[in-house]
Amino acid sequence: QNYLMTRLHAASIGQETRNFARIPKRASMTFGELFAGAERYASALVSAGVTPGDRVAAQVEKTIEAIQLYLGTVMAGGVFLPLNTAYTINEVSYFLGDATPRVVVCDPARAESITTVAGDAKIMTLDATGRGSLPDSALGRGAFSPVARGKDDLAAILYTSGTTGRSKGAMLSHGNLASNSEMLKDYWQFTKSDILIHALPIFHTHGLFVATNVALLAGASVEFLAKFDIDQILDAMPRATALMGVPTFYTRLLDDPRLTKERAANMRLFISGSAPLLVDTNETWQARTGHRILERYGMTETNMSTSNPYDGERRAGTVGFPLPGVEARIMQDDGTQVGTGDIGVLEVRGANVFQGYWQMPEKTAEELRDDGWFITGDLATQDSDGYVTIVGRSKDLIITGGFNVYPKEIEGLIDDLSGVLESAVIGVPHPDFGEAVVAVVVPTDPNLASETVLSALNDHLAKFKQPKQVVFLPELPRNTMGKVQKKALREDYAELFS
Ligand code: ATP
Ligand code: MG
Repeated sequence: QNYLMTRLHAASIGQETRNFARIPKRASMTFGELFAGAERYASALVSAGVTPGDRVAAQVEKTIEAIQLYLGTVMAGGVFLPLNTAYTINEVSYFLGDATPRVVVCDPARAESITTVAGDAKIMTLDATGRGSLPDSALGRGAFSPVARGKDDLAAILYTSGTTGRSKGAMLSHGNLASNSEMLKDYWQFTKSDILIHALPIFHTHGLFVATNVALLAGASVEFLAKFDIDQILDAMPRATALMGVPTFYTRLLDDPRLTKERAANMRLFISGSAPLLVDTNETWQARTGHRILERYGMTETNMSTSNPYDGERRAGTVGFPLPGVEARIMQDDGTQVGTGDIGVLEVRGANVFQGYWQMPEKTAEELRDDGWFITGDLATQDSDGYVTIVGRSKDLIITGGFNVYPKEIEGLIDDLSGVLESAVIGVPHPDFGEAVVAVVVPTDPNLASETVLSALNDHLAKFKQPKQVVFLPELPRNTMGKVQKKALREDYAELFS
C-alpha cells in the first residue's frame, strides 16, 4: 500500500463521476479523471526511470495537470519537489544541484536552459495549458497500482520560502502529510459538500498540502484558479463554501466594492495563514461580509501547528491553539518555559514535524531536538486562555545597546497612526548601539513627516525602542505568499548609520 495515496484517494472511491475541479476557461475534471490521469503520469515517470525515493522536481505553472504530477510522483514512490515559478535559472540550478532529481518537469520555454543545470536528470515538459512531453508520454497508458510506501518514507521535499536566509529542503514523510491534513479536515469540518476556492500557488505548503490534501481527503471539490485573480474569486464565491488565502488575498478583496455580504452568503469559512493577518483586516472583513476570518499558523517544516477554533472565539491577532496531536511550548534562553503572556521561542512536536533538512545534518541538529521538539524560530506568547500569538521571528529581533526590541510592538503603534497604511521595523548596524531601530513606513498621506511618527511614539515607547530613523516607501517588499522581506529591507538600509 501507498500510505499517503490510499488516504488521499479513499474519500472519492465509488464517486468517480463527481466533479473535483471546476477550472475557468477549461473543462471540469472529475475525481475519476484526476486519479486515472495521475496513474498515467506515475507510469510515465516510472518509464522515465523514477524508482522509490527518487526526487521529481517541478517548476511548472499551476494547472490541474501539475496536481496530477504531484499525485503521480507519490504513486510512483517518488519524492515530489515543487519549485517556485519565480525562481531564476540560477536559483533553480542551486535546488537541482542540491536535490539531484531523477526527473525535472518544467515549462517548455525553460527546457533548454534547465537542461544546462539539471545534471543527469531527465527533462520533461508541462505548459500552462496542461500540454507537454509529460502528458504526451502518459497518453494511452493504462491503470497503475501505486508503489508501496510506508508512513516514514518521504513523499515530498519542500524548500522553505527563503525569508530569513537560503531556502532549506524540508523532508516530509507520507505520515507527516497524511496526519496533518486528516486532522485539519476534521478541525475545519471539511466534507464532500464543500467547494474550496483554490487560488494559492502549489509550490508552497499552503496551496499544495493544506488546500489540496484537505479537499481530497474530504472528497470536497475545488474552484481551481491558476492564480489570485480578483474577478475569478468574486465570480466563484457565490458557489463556493470555503477560501484559503494569505493576508494579501483579504486586503485586496476588501479593496473591491463587489465584495459584499450577499456575495459571501454561501461561504462557511475563510482561512488565512502564511503571514500575519492584521486585526484591522479581520474586523473590517467581518463588518463587510459577516464572516470572521479563521487564522492559523504553520511552516514548511511542520505543516500546520496552531489554529483558531472552528466553533468558539476566533481571536483576531492570534493564531489560536495548538492543533490536536501537536504539542507546543514557548521557551526562554535558559531552556525553561516562559510564563503566561511572556515572549519566547515557539517549539512544536508531533506527527506533523518533518524528518529534517535535506542534506543539512548540522542545520537539522540545530533546529530539531533529539526528543522531537522543533525550534520554529518564531517568537510567540500564549495567553491564559491558551491562544498563541506570533510576535515575529527570532532573526528579526533587534538588539540595540544590549536591549531586546520586538518589532511587532512598534509596528502595531505605527500602523494605528492616521496617515499610515503599514510598517516594518528592522534593526540595522549602528556604530554605537550595535543595531539601531529603523521604521520603514508606507504612508497613505503623502505629507506624513517622520517627526510626526516619532513624536507619536514618544509617549508610548521607552527611548531605546524608539526608531532612530523613519524611512518612507510606497510599499513593503513581499514575496508571493505575502511575507514581508525584512532581510531585503535590512540589506537596503544597512549603510544608514555608517
Ligand atoms: P525561511 O525558513 O526560508 O526563512 P519562511 O520561514 O518564510 O522562510 P515558510 O515555511 O513558507 O518559510 O513560512 C513559515 C513562516 O511563516 C513561519 O515560521 C512564520 O514566521 C510565518 N507564518 C506562517 N503563518 C503565520 C501566521 N498566521 N502569522 C504569522 N506568521 C506566520
Ligand atoms: Mg522558516
